[in-house]
Amino acid sequence: DAPKPETAELLARRQAHLAGAQKNYYAAPPQIERGWKEHLFDVEGRAYLDMVNNVSILGHGHPKLAAAISAQWLRLNTNSRFHYAAITEFSERLAALSPDGLDTVFLVNSGSEANDLAIRLAQAHSGARNMLCLLEAYHGWSSASDAVSTSIADNPEALTTRPDWVHAVASPNTYRGAFRGPDTAAGYLGAITPVLEGIDAGGEGLAGFICESVYGNAGGIPLPDGYLAQVYAQVRARGGLCIADEVQVGYGRLGHYFWGFEQQGVVPDIITIAKGMGNGHPLGAVITTREIARSLEKEGTFFSSTGGGPVSCVAGMTVLDIMAEEKLQENAREVGDHLKARLAALIDRHPIAGAVHGMGLYLGLEFVRDRTTLEPATEETAAVCDRLLSLGVIMQPTGDHQNVLKIKPPLCLGIDSADFFADMLEKVLDEGW
Ligand code: PMP
Repeated sequence: DAPKPETAELLARRQAHLAGAQKNYYAAPPQIERGWKEHLFDVEGRAYLDMVNNVSILGHGHPKLAAAISAQWLRLNTNSRFHYAAITEFSERLAALSPDGLDTVFLVNSGSEANDLAIRLAQAHSGARNMLCLLEAYHGWSSASDAVSTSIADNPEALTTRPDWVHAVASPNTYRGAFRGPDTAAGYLGAITPVLEGIDAGGEGLAGFICESVYGNAGGIPLPDGYLAQVYAQVRARGGLCIADEVQVGYGRLGHYFWGFEQQGVVPDIITIAKGMGNGHPLGAVITTREIARSLEKEGTFFSSTGGGPVSCVAGMTVLDIMAEEKLQENAREVGDHLKARLAALIDRHPIAGAVHGMGLYLGLEFVRDRTTLEPATEETAAVCDRLLSLGVIMQPTGDHQNVLKIKPPLCLGIDSADFFADMLEKVLDEGW
């Protein structure tokens, strides 16, 4: 059904006054006015299953979080240079969640800020400027986080406009990259070696390496076995720091692991987090060692006015409390395993469904036109997402070819909702592909 005229009129007003680059999902989006758990409701009363919202890890409209934020707002909210309990307690809890040695926290407001600061730390600590990153990556919109973002889906000019201190290396895409399958770390390392030799020859050193610990932007693709251990060793041998961008894949979403890097058996020098840690309240963090954090002291004071303010810290701690009380990481594992099996069954019946990537509630279903050439089914993926919307499911594509369904719902997703999503997807594929 066509949306109400008021919905279209509001969209036109949005487009008149919001910068054009701030695109919304869908050409004719529903006007969402309410959320509850993994469900969203539009102004016409239609319900949607929200399968893409990795910001709302607890689910929408959580009354305990709303009450905690409200109570703290009434009591105190101020900039983070005052001395108050919440910033101390939240930093202690983040340090306790992190591997030994990573005990020092910076609190900011977003993933872009966290990655920007992580890059600045790597550069300050090493005294070098060069950063290694991966192709097909997204790390944020601020100058430095954008500089290491190479995804051509987000920016078609990305590969020709990176600054000279950014060195992007082959995307270790174990499904469609130059080397395929889990035993390809050596191949991808071989592709990095000439880049490292070029940096060595330049004599200006290496500041660090940034990458997602499971390749989220590419569609939840696992890195080759042992990949991070080998790359980290090369980077550290040159005095560089290793940054794990856990903004999407960390914080329990993988179900089987709290942090994505655990699955690779490594410990990074710097962890960046955001998105789910505030369940939609603006919150981000950099977690590192005391020694690395000290390197910024040479530059003076670090200060984010609202990063780590009292309300933000209470929001962050309440999210952790609710995750534990409602066993959301375990739910991500159980429901995610079930959903992955249902999606894998689609591969047997529908040639377009090439592979299912990821784990827990971070999954990617990749659509291809041909299972040998792996030609990306880009237009088909967009059409599947549009059809799913009409069936009451919010789903979006990801990856450089926009041919992977990015499945990252709230971690409270029930088995019944997972089945509803799989049923609707099956229905759409039965209709046309
Ligand atoms: N890193 C990754 C892996 C992301 O996916 C994103 C956001 N999509 C960011 C960083 C930036 O986070 P934010 O939008 O909170 O600035």
